[in-house]
Amino acid sequence: MERKVCKFGGTSMADGNVILRAAQIVRAEDSRRYVVVSAPGKRFSGDIKVTDLLYQCSDEFESGDISAFEKTFEKICTRFLNIESEIGKDLGIKAGLEKTKEEILQGAGRDYCASRGEYFAAKIMAAVLDVPFVDATEFIRFTENGTLSEETFVLGEKVLKQYARAVIPGFYGLGADGKVKTFSRGGGDISGSIVARSVMASLYENWTDVSGFYACDPRIVSSPKCMKEISYQELRELSYMGANVLHSESIFPVRSAGIPIRICNTFRPEDAGTYIVRFNQRKLGEEIVTGVAGKKGFTSITIEKSLMNAEIGFVQKVLAVTGKHGISFEHLPSGIDTMSLVIDNEQLKDGVLPTLIAEIEEAVKPDRIYAHENIALVATVGHNMKNSVGTSARLFKALSEAGINVNMIDLGSSGLNIIVGVENEDCVDCIRAIYNEFFH
Ligand code: ASP
Repeated sequence: MERKVCKFGGTSMADGNVILRAAQIVRAEDSRRYVVVSAPGKRFSGDIKVTDLLYQCSDEFESGDISAFEKTFEKICTRFLNIESEIGKDLGIKAGLEKTKEEILQGAGRDYCASRGEYFAAKIMAAVLDVPFVDATEFIRFTENGTLSEETFVLGEKVLKQYARAVIPGFYGLGADGKVKTFSRGGGDISGSIVARSVMASLYENWTDVSGFYACDPRIVSSPKCMKEISYQELRELSYMGANVLHSESIFPVRSAGIPIRICNTFRPEDAGTYIVRFNQRKLGEEIVTGVAGKKGFTSITIEKSLMNAEIGFVQKVLAVTGKHGISFEHLPSGIDTMSLVIDNEQLKDGVLPTLIAEIEEAVKPDRIYAHENIALVATVGHNMKNSVGTSARLFKALSEAGINVNMIDLGSSGLNIIVGVENEDCVDCIRAIYNEFFH
């Protein structure tokens, strides 16, 4: 029996009419059996997502500003009650919201509060489709250190097997302490992937507001190419670097089972979308590059020492310092006598950089150590690159013609990507120059 999992993102759940449209998509194919939903997102530019309102409520409650909390919670109630009236059915949402408000006021916690957008959205979708609601806490489990527990898939299979069809809220599960715990933002995509793997779906359809995966951010180049097919690995690299159509971790649950993901547009369901598969079928001669994406806000710490290559345990000593501060690094480009650590600025909060430099100096006694802040990383990704003669020559020529200074190069060891570090302010021009070189 063919089974598809459909995940609808926030814009596909934004109001009653869109929800009815999403429900129509589900009904259009009998194989669309399991539905995962996000909380209602933005209806228009400048609107506020329900999840953002819920986080705001939690902050207001935590800071003791109960009247601000009440006002924000009222906005959430209005969003859901409007949806109920647009759908034209009494779904019992009002009583549920009142109970939720009490729970938050009794200290149910930030994650619980944030999760309620998905919870009510799933209740609504289940009622519209007349399909059972299955709570994500029944099978999505986290370990004590907050990662997804493997138990999730065993439980997922066991729980979901009991339902021929079901609607499941995205974004959360149960923490090791028995309380609701959320994924990082946009994590409903991961929930969809977990459900797909649990029911061994033939396809995981991720319904959103774009017609697929674009080779570049449409805010940077107009009408970028929409790719027909990309690999899990290409998606992971590009979404990690800022291409935000799908959460970068959402490939993990489906990857080992080889379940393809299709990105589709709720507002243009007839469009083919993009398939994310184990190996893309692109032949040599077709697109060399799959996509270009970039992210600002990195710091590189460069360490120089003669004969570094011969010093046993050099890198280990450097990483012991970052490890001690709980800091992870993104890239580690190295030469014979130099190495650089590229770190996301998010990791360097509270002015830890000078301490880090002093401790590395103490640990490895370098000839020179210096930091370069405000770096943007731009990744050019594609399986075909390594077999196409002249790819990097074209890339660097395009950057030099655009007058962009490259201060770091990292050729990923798999040959899948070329990452360059440029000044933050050159990030957009760098992405544009590379895209134009390979797609025009
Ligand atoms: N509603 C959550 C967010 O806004 C999760 C999701 O939409 O996937 O981040």
